[in-house]
Amino acid sequence: MTAPATHARFLIVGPQGSGKGTQGIIVARAFGVPQVATGDIFRANVAGGTELGARVQAIIEAGNLVPDELTSELVRDRLAQPDAANGFVLDGYPRNRGQVADLDAFLTPRDEQLDAVIELAVPRDESISRLLQRATEQGRTDDTEEVISKRLEIYERETAPILDDYRSRGLVVRVDGVGTLDEVTERIFSALAARGLVAAHPGAA
Ligand code: AMP
Repeated sequence: MTAPATHARFLIVGPQGSGKGTQGIIVARAFGVPQVATGDIFRANVAGGTELGARVQAIIEAGNLVPDELTSELVRDRLAQPDAANGFVLDGYPRNRGQVADLDAFLTPRDEQLDAVIELAVPRDESISRLLQRATEQGRTDDTEEVISKRLEIYERETAPILDDYRSRGLVVRVDGVGTLDEVTERIFSALAARGLVAAHPGAA
């Protein structure tokens, strides 16, 4: 039996509506590390009326990306917190090649590296219908049909290519994201275990 991982530095990448938020939380709990979702942090700042929130609100509502400098600084601050010392599940970051370089520049001097990049594969039609469904349930201001298609377009143009970079580093664990929540969770854990990445607290999932 493989011993549980002592550290877990994961990215979870997939189109909007792939379920990566939910799965990211489950993986983070099981490995005993925080989930860090940049979209959630931005939305909390908008809701809380902070200065950062005021700077990013219009960008988010239009479905555009917040500038790399601002986003990467936010992530660096978060990953430098003590609870992220043994790892993290980053959701929604990095989202383009510039942010990949920023993340490398943060991790390398700390002598840290990513353990895996979990790719949740979901066809475009499926993610659109899930997002429209979520729009009626959660009322997110960026879940309108027009903004959704803009965000998916940005995903395909800017985010999908980062998977090729991580694939060439041998880090990508590709998981079929179509199925029930439990089925997809199970696929993620078995794919990680196949690479020797075993959760310390699988019961927490
Ligand atoms: P999400 O919840 O991940 O879909 O993010 C919601 C919105 O937050 C995005 O459409 C962007 O406007 C912004 N955002 C989240 N993460 C990033 C990122 N890594 N880089 C730039 N903008 C981001």
